[in-house]
Amino acid sequence: MNDRLHGQDLLAGLQSQAESWTPAHTLRWALQTFGDRVAVSSAFGAEGVTVTDMASRLGVRFRLFTLDTEFLFPETYSLMEAIERRYGITIERIYPQLSPEEQDRLHGPHLWERDPDQCCRLRKVEPLRQHLRTLNAWITSIRRDQTSARAHARRIEWDASFGLIKINPIVDWTSAQVWDYIYRYDVPFNPLHQQNYPTIGCTHCTRAVSAGEDPRAGRWPGFAKTECGLHGSSSPQSET
Ligand code: SF4
Repeated sequence: MNDRLHGQDLLAGLQSQAESWTPAHTLRWALQTFGDRVAVSSAFGAEGVTVTDMASRLGVRFRLFTLDTEFLFPETYSLMEAIERRYGITIERIYPQLSPEEQDRLHGPHLWERDPDQCCRLRKVEPLRQHLRTLNAWITSIRRDQTSARAHARRIEWDASFGLIKINPIVDWTSAQVWDYIYRYDVPFNPLHQQNYPTIGCTHCTRAVSAGEDPRAGRWPGFAKTECGLHGSSSPQSET
């Protein structure tokens, strides 16, 4: 049986049951089931640092990777170093095939201003696709109430976009629960969150939000885009 069929079989029996699992139970199951073939994916937003801290409390080795677009805020790079020191881990940094200069040469300058979908494809989606080919499952920190595309996410599901199991330990949490956790356990977080940046991506495509604005209004301002393309469609199986 290939990995794909095996993954979908595994889900068939567990998906409903997993909806009542705690985040810690979900993470323990993921690490015990997949070992080195599962990794936590984080962009080091509030949710990402929360899931990283939860994984560290299980007392077992875990892999953590990030998509480094080379356009991140200095505060995000500093936070990554703080996370490595705090948890004694090395973050796997996944880079795009093209450097920023090569992208400018091949696709023209400021691609994010003209075609952010193409820029995200080059700097996030394709590097992620390549990396996920080396895994059987990945762990994300998405929550259902973040965007309409995430509203039907399950705690464990088949990721039809990338062809592996996707595990979302805090899928049913609210933002308030995330921040309670961060303060309770003194988890390091990005100081930009205290300067009206509820979510933080690349410097070119993130701005602070004003009072009353949607928390994701600061991402890709001026475009209808709300997602990088990393968290898209799930299989019909995962929507049952
Ligand atoms: S968030 Fe902006 S700069 Fe970053 S990869 Fe996407 S379009 Fe490019």
